[in-house]
Amino acid sequence: MGLPIGGFRTIFSARTDANVLSLTFDDGPDPEFTEHVLTVLDRYDVGATFCMMGHNALEHRSLAQSVVSHGHEVANHSLTHLDQTRLSPRELHDEIALGHQAVVEATGSPVRYFRPPRGRLVGRASRVLAELNSDALLWSISGSLRAPTTTAKLTKLVIDALHPGAIVCFHDGIGRGTFAREQRFARELKARRNAEIEALPAIIEAVIDRGYSFATVTELLGFEATNPYESEITSLDEPQIVDGEDSVIDWDDGSDDVDSPLNAADPEPVAAEETALESGVG
Ligand SMILES: [Zn+2]
Repeated sequence: MGLPIGGFRTIFSARTDANVLSLTFDDGPDPEFTEHVLTVLDRYDVGATFCMMGHNALEHRSLAQSVVSHGHEVANHSLTHLDQTRLSPRELHDEIALGHQAVVEATGSPVRYFRPPRGRLVGRASRVLAELNSDALLWSISGSLRAPTTTAKLTKLVIDALHPGAIVCFHDGIGRGTFAREQRFARELKARRNAEIEALPAIIEAVIDRGYSFATVTELLGFEATNPYESEITSLDEPQIVDGEDSVIDWDDGSDDVDSPLNAADPEPVAAEETALESGVG
């Protein structure tokens, strides 16, 4: 097997001064949530990026196509939302590559981004992403809180962290809960998703009130300086901690492992900091 051609970016947000942000929705398409999200986005004429589980895209093709016909962008969120830190190289390759293929096949749309389940980007994924010509899409704001939560709390979570070029992570599905919908952790995830979707109009209105507009991730990246390396870089001595980081740890907890139900007392660390880039190629 030859070495892959090209490379990939790891995107947390767009480096821009423009008051633009992207809403992203993970884990769908799901008949229980996706249409509600599409209805809200239509009402405010907001274009978003949907990071689909390949399995769900194939299982609910018309819903997947409906996302595209409503003007949204699609991305790959793996085939079945397994914890990628626990997979063999072959399993990891298949979860990413077959997920990509499934979303392309179900929607007929190009796929430019891979969002790793729970934000856990493992080193070996770099090779697969380079082969697929996909970028890794993380996020700078998590729009999810452990239940019970309220619209006011979720709105505050997003507004307090709001910044130009933000990428906000929401959900229109329940990850591994898809395969065990009546288990306790899946029911809790459903409650959290419903709370997010219920809060969506208030969040969108609050964001508009602050002078922001919405874009898909690809549109958002168009707001970056031509050469991002020329932009002002945040001091490396004082790394910025993203607001709402606890909720990043929170947000997808339990959705990727049917055997490990939610344990509120002991959330697993997730996301950006844990993005282990071990070298897969010698
Ligand atoms: Zn997910």
